[in-house]
Amino acid sequence: MNDTTVFGDSPYSIVFRNPELLSAFALLVLCEIVWRKFVRHEEYGAAEAAASVGIAIGRSIAKPIMIFALAGLYLLIYEYRLFTFDMTKWWSWVLVFLGADFLYYWMHRFKHEIRWMWADHSVHHSGNRMNVFMNFRLGWTGLIVGTWLMHLPLVLLGFAPSAVITTYALSLVWQAWIHTDMIGKLWSPFELVLNTPSHHRVHHARNPVYLDKNYAGLLIIWDRMFGSFQEELEEEPCDYGLVQQLLSVNPVKIAFNEWGNLIHDVRAATSWKQRFIAAFGYPGDKKAVLEEQARLKVLREKAKADGAHTSDASSSPRRSAAAAGE
Ligand SMILES: [Zn+2]
Ligand SMILES: [Zn+2]
Repeated sequence: MNDTTVFGDSPYSIVFRNPELLSAFALLVLCEIVWRKFVRHEEYGAAEAAASVGIAIGRSIAKPIMIFALAGLYLLIYEYRLFTFDMTKWWSWVLVFLGADFLYYWMHRFKHEIRWMWADHSVHHSGNRMNVFMNFRLGWTGLIVGTWLMHLPLVLLGFAPSAVITTYALSLVWQAWIHTDMIGKLWSPFELVLNTPSHHRVHHARNPVYLDKNYAGLLIIWDRMFGSFQEELEEEPCDYGLVQQLLSVNPVKIAFNEWGNLIHDVRAATSWKQRFIAAFGYPGDKKAVLEEQARLKVLREKAKADGAHTSDASSSPRRSAAAAGE
């Protein structure tokens, strides 16, 4: 893999360049089709999958511009690095991997919380079915929204751009297989540390309890550390897609849907403050769902506290008697 091809890359383009990964990917698609038909007795969603491929084709047109612009910028920044990490040392690789995965977490979180970035990233969340074709749904406007800023701190610190990009590629390849309903929860130590299909299903779900959770790239530890982790709950099946589900299978419409909403809201705003919030504030359509999320959290905590109180009461005859006397 050379220094520049991965700029603006995606799981599918890395997979398609490697025959072994491509065969594994094709096998995964085949298993998913069979599993959905014979185990779930559901449709695979061929039109949605075709739309996903259309989005990937559109993005591949934008990609060469991204590679050209970003490769030069990263190499230029590296000239002004603060330190020089020796990439022949194993610990340099551990550091760059942890750094890249940490920055991925925060960039992904910003993409959900800042509308300007959400306009691009919402494309990835536009599918209403979870399958490996979700990998193909990536926005076309990454250059405009600034997702390429993600790794600049590492390059400025002194990690070679090729090393940063290699670890980023690892994270992207990892994500290629976790977009599926077919694989349940894994061995619990894996679920504790890694971003798994179960954790990523939660990330793609629009249920209030799941919205804007599990931003991880490869390690789920960041979500656990920064309060955005949510376990997939058996009693709450994932309902996928955007808050206002998008039914279109037109790739161009999907790619620009949220940009259209953003422009509409900016034009409808009556003050500069409102215009700014419409463009860079928290995405408005998710606000109501988040309020519901907060309400459910309070209810859950209350139920938990009541449950604890009840079990306390039942385990302590004296307290039960006192409660009965009240
Ligand atoms: Zn996301
Ligand atoms: Zn995803």
